[in-house]
Amino acid sequence: MSENKTSKKRRVLIKFSGEALAGKNGFGIDLDILKFIALEIKNLYAHNLEIGIVVGGGNIIRGVTAAQGGLIKRTSADYMGMLATVINAVAIQEALESLGLDVRVQSGIDITEVCESYIYRRAIRHFEKGRIVIFGAGTGNPYFSTDTAATLRAIEIEAELILKATKVNGVYDKDPNKFADAKLLSHISYDEALKDHIKVMDDTAIALAKDNSLPILVCNMFKKGNLIDVLVHKKGDFSVVS
Ligand code: UDP
Repeated sequence: MSENKTSKKRRVLIKFSGEALAGKNGFGIDLDILKFIALEIKNLYAHNLEIGIVVGGGNIIRGVTAAQGGLIKRTSADYMGMLATVINAVAIQEALESLGLDVRVQSGIDITEVCESYIYRRAIRHFEKGRIVIFGAGTGNPYFSTDTAATLRAIEIEAELILKATKVNGVYDKDPNKFADAKLLSHISYDEALKDHIKVMDDTAIALAKDNSLPILVCNMFKKGNLIDVLVHKKGDFSVVS
């Protein structure tokens, strides 16, 4: 497990998909959900944690999908996807700031009128000053996912873990939507997570986490108070990949 050497506080990186923000519409940003997520993060922050956030862009555009049919080239589609994550990052920044938190967005692609560029040392200073940092624009490179970006940033900032916050309680032995007897797995190894039928994150993200011994926690972010239960009290349903 990597150790945060710059501060005594626990530092974690929370990743959630853009789709989480879309709500029932399945597209765009649902303001009630945005508010809910911001409040959950604010309550978690009150437990003396340093929090980094990576959000996906799937509620707006996904590179692979946008490139289907060939009208838009994959590389451009991926850049569009990365820009989508910045839109989400700015929305979360605003929602968190409306609750009185101090937040910075850092982008992997320079968009200096909108937010800071990603500078590792600057991100660390923000944490030390008590700010939440949202990392937008993924890795800044096409052909990667925001799961990989989140893993990369978590390693760079020496987060003790990456929390993959989802709509489900964790990792199951089979699809819980299809099988009533699906069992929640409290722990799986990186190698098991790399197996085809368990889609915790894409293979690049899991391999990166494995190479750097970064634990991945998977939990439900839509249960009120669950982020605190899982990260602070270590109780309730969640899965650990390590
Ligand atoms: N993306 C990329 N490089 C990165 C991160 C993201 O090209 O380092 C693009 C990619 O097209 C991806 C899109 O941004 O589909 C949105 O991210 P993702 O699909 O991972 O979002 P999520 O599924 O988490 O909402």
